[in-house]
Amino acid sequence: MSAAPEGLTVTEQGTVLRDGAFGNARALCCRECGHEVALGPHYACPECFGPLEVSYDFPTVTREEIAAGPRNIWRYKALLPVPTDIEQSPNTEPGFTRLLEARNLAAELGIDKLWVKDDSTNPTNSFKDRVVACALSAARELHAKVFACPSTGNLANAVAAAGARAGIKTVVFIPSNLEKPKQVNSAVYTDSLVAVEGNYDDVNKLASEIAGEEEGWAFVNVNVRPFYAEGSKTLGYEIAEQLGWRLPDQVVIPVASGSQLTKVHKAFQELVKLGLVDDKPVRIFGAQATGCSPVSTAYKADTDAIRPVKPDTIAKSLAIGNPADGIYVLDICRETGGAVEDVTDDEVREGILLLARTEGVFTETAGGTTVGVLKKLVETGQLDTTLETVVINTGMGLKTLDAVADEVGPAATIKPSYGAFVSTGLV
Ligand SMILES: *Cc1c(COP(=O)(O)O)cnc(C)c1O
Ligand SMILES: [Zn+2]
Repeated sequence: MSAAPEGLTVTEQGTVLRDGAFGNARALCCRECGHEVALGPHYACPECFGPLEVSYDFPTVTREEIAAGPRNIWRYKALLPVPTDIEQSPNTEPGFTRLLEARNLAAELGIDKLWVKDDSTNPTNSFKDRVVACALSAARELHAKVFACPSTGNLANAVAAAGARAGIKTVVFIPSNLEKPKQVNSAVYTDSLVAVEGNYDDVNKLASEIAGEEEGWAFVNVNVRPFYAEGSKTLGYEIAEQLGWRLPDQVVIPVASGSQLTKVHKAFQELVKLGLVDDKPVRIFGAQATGCSPVSTAYKADTDAIRPVKPDTIAKSLAIGNPADGIYVLDICRETGGAVEDVTDDEVREGILLLARTEGVFTETAGGTTVGVLKKLVETGQLDTTLETVVINTGMGLKTLDAVADEVGPAATIKPSYGAFVSTGLV
C-alpha cells in the first residue's frame, strides 16, 4: 500500500480502490494454510497455492434489515464482497427465486417434505447470474477493461448479459461442441463469443494463460474467482429466509467445480454465526452425472484423491473433469452425513421428465442430474425421507431441449375433426 488521497487505497499492483469497494470483506484468506492477502484480483495463495476465499468483519445484521432490502441478491449485500451502493450500478439483479413446495414429487419419491429451489428463473435462466453479479462488482471496483470467462455454457450466458447491461466489454470462451441454444444465448449479448476446439478443461487452461498475459482482464472464475464464488452463498441465504429463517435438514446440490456446494454450506454456517437462524445439523449431498463423476467416484472409493476425468455426458453444464473445489465437496458431504452420488444420462433424462411432470418445472440436464440423484439417494437409503429436504434446480430446460426432444412429443397427429380425435383414445 502507498499514500493515496483520502477515501482511496493504492494496492501494490497500482490499483486504486475506493473505501468500501468490497463492503464488509476484510481480506482474501487461504483455505489451506490461512495466509491472508489484501483484497484484489488474486485467487491462489502465494505461500502454498491453495485457493483464496473472502473473509469478513461482519457487522450486526438483522432479519428485518434483510427483509427490507430489494427482492434480489442485494438484500444480502452486507454479507457479500460488494459496496453498499451496489444497487446503483447497472446489473442483472438476480436471485430471490422461488422456493416451491414439491408435494407431487415428494409423494412420488416417498419423501415427507420436499422443496425445489428453482433458479431457472434468474435473468439468464441459471444460478450463474448470482456469481456473475458479484464478479462484475469486483471487476468494476478493480477497474477491469474486459469481463471474461471460460464456460460450460451457462456462465457464458450470464457474463455476456451482465457485461452488456454494465456497458463493459465481454469476451466469453466455450467448448466448440456446446449445445446450440447456449451458444445463441451468449452470442445475442456479445459479438466476442470464442468457440474453442477442446473440452472445458482445455478452455479453462487457455483462460488462465490469457489472464496471466493480459492486463485488466477480469476472468470471473479465474482471477476474480474468490469474489465470484461468494455469489453462490445467496442460494443458501434465500433457502433459509424463505423457510421462515430456518435451515433445512438435507440439501441436494449439483457439482461441477464444486464451488456452489461449498458456498451454500458456508452460507448456512454464516447465518448461524450471525444469529439469524438456529444451529442444527444439515446433511449436504452432491450430484454428478456418471459420465463426469470424479467427486462421486472418490466419495465411493472412500479416498481424498480426486482423479481428473475426460467428461462424456449430456449434462454439459456439470462437465468439469478436474473440479477445483472437489476436495472441499468431499469434506463437507462426509462431515455433514451427506453423500456424493451420480446418475447415468438415461437417469438424467428421467429426472428432467420427473420434475416436469410432477411439478411443472422444466429443468436442464444439470437439474435432471440433481433430481435423478435425489431419487437414487432415496432408493439406496442414503437420504432420510422423514427429514425436510431441499433440491436445487440450477438451470432451465429450454437450453438443453435436445436432451429430451426424442423422448416426448405429440401423443397423436390428427386431421382437424372430432372423429379423428375420438379415434386417438384420448377422450
Ligand atoms: C455451473 C453450474 C453448476 C455447478 O457449478 P459449480 O459451482 O461449478 O459446482 C450447476 N448447475 C448449472 C446449471 C450450472 O451452470
Ligand atoms: Zn496457503
